[in-house]
Amino acid sequence: MALTLDPATQGLLLELANLTRAQSVNVAQKKPEEVVLLERLQAKLVRAEQGVSSAQMAVDDMELEVLRIQEDERKLRRRLSDSTQQLRAATDPELRRDLQHDVAAATSRINNLTGEMQEAHNELHALRQNVDFHGAKLDEARREVEAAQRAVDALGTNDEAQEDPAARIEELRAALPAEAVAAFDEERAINGVGVAEFNGRSCGGCFIVLPPADISAIKRTPANELPQCPDCSSYLVFSRS
Ligand SMILES: [Zn+2]
Repeated sequence: MALTLDPATQGLLLELANLTRAQSVNVAQKKPEEVVLLERLQAKLVRAEQGVSSAQMAVDDMELEVLRIQEDERKLRRRLSDSTQQLRAATDPELRRDLQHDVAAATSRINNLTGEMQEAHNELHALRQNVDFHGAKLDEARREVEAAQRAVDALGTNDEAQEDPAARIEELRAALPAEAVAAFDEERAINGVGVAEFNGRSCGGCFIVLPPADISAIKRTPANELPQCPDCSSYLVFSRS
């Protein structure tokens, strides 16, 4: 059943419907894009901080490894020097054999440790470069968050200047005929839209491009009546622009 409404007032009903729909969307989820960006950059900053701290942990571990190798080497050199001294004084063949074996074993292990130490130093160098790399990314992330924060701060003052949609909604509901508001509320309770714009091709409620026969029927509707979308049943305000 079509809703009858003075063509001059139909635009107000559409404004009411659009504001009501936008308000429910805003309350539910819509954040300014500056805030969305700031939150994304803050998450990136946290990841950058984690990147620096795990890179630094890898450096710390490798420094401990270098200390362990140095300590092992010190012990081996002491053993080597002890065995060498004892060997100079020893005369018993069996003891000499044992000491010679000790000297050879310590020398071989010291050579291995020298190789390990070289590897550890190379790795430490790469790990420290990695800390620098993550540090630069962290600096960049901090600058990005600061810039995004400034954009959000600037937003706060603009928001207050905006008209409160709730006040305009009350004004429109009071100005429009009660039957039109009631029909809008009733339909909105069913499909979440109530009243939508028809641009000559598609419905602004469900965004369906209507078949030519439906379009003709809508266009034939008297100017003081609001037809319903055959798809979502929203009352349609025909924008002839
Ligand atoms: Zn529709």
